[in-house]
Amino acid sequence: MNDYVISPPPEVSIPVSGGKLFPVRRIFCVGRNYAAHAREMCANPDREPPFFFTKPADALVTAGADTPYPSATGNLHHEIELVVAIGQGGADISAGSALAHVFGYAVGIDLTRRDLQDEAKAQRRPWDMSKGFDASAPIGDIIPVSAAGHPASGRIALAVNHRLRQEGDLADQIWPVPEMIEALSCLVVLVPGDLIFTGTPDGVGALVRGDFVEGEIDGVGVLQTRIV
Ligand code: MN
Repeated sequence: MNDYVISPPPEVSIPVSGGKLFPVRRIFCVGRNYAAHAREMCANPDREPPFFFTKPADALVTAGADTPYPSATGNLHHEIELVVAIGQGGADISAGSALAHVFGYAVGIDLTRRDLQDEAKAQRRPWDMSKGFDASAPIGDIIPVSAAGHPASGRIALAVNHRLRQEGDLADQIWPVPEMIEALSCLVVLVPGDLIFTGTPDGVGALVRGDFVEGEIDGVGVLQTRIV
């Protein structure tokens, strides 16, 4: 029996390497989690506790699909990020037990309307329209922990048209994944299907239509998308 007054939205999911699908509930993102990127954004990397913002689940761009250049910006920035896929929920999770809540990992890009974000910062307004717009979250396939383990170090890099733009190491995260899960789970009850974008190394920059964007994280995989 279907009592919906309009069609319910389609389920959002991400392919898992080796088969099957990971259903997505929510997308959380952390700001400034690599010291060098915090510095390039004029913030002090030593002093700030992690802070979070969100994107809608249907902002994901999966399976190598093209990414449409968004409206209302002239400065669309790429931010390559390790993404954590939560498989087991919980509240007030300790860092020591946090990794047991992780199903797997993926390579993601936190696309940002940097001009709107700069304006929002200056006006002390929310970031939703600079961060959570349509197609703002390209993501590669999820690799399960059973295949990848928990990558705590390794190269994270992004190239545009085969030229290197961002390159860092997961070991340089100010808040590693266990501490990130601990902090976030004190703010919301995490549930299976939640994703956490864990911040970007330095080297962020602008994209234009036609750019071929390729992200890679050692042991996690590759993400490819074209901006159209
Ligand atoms: Mn980001």
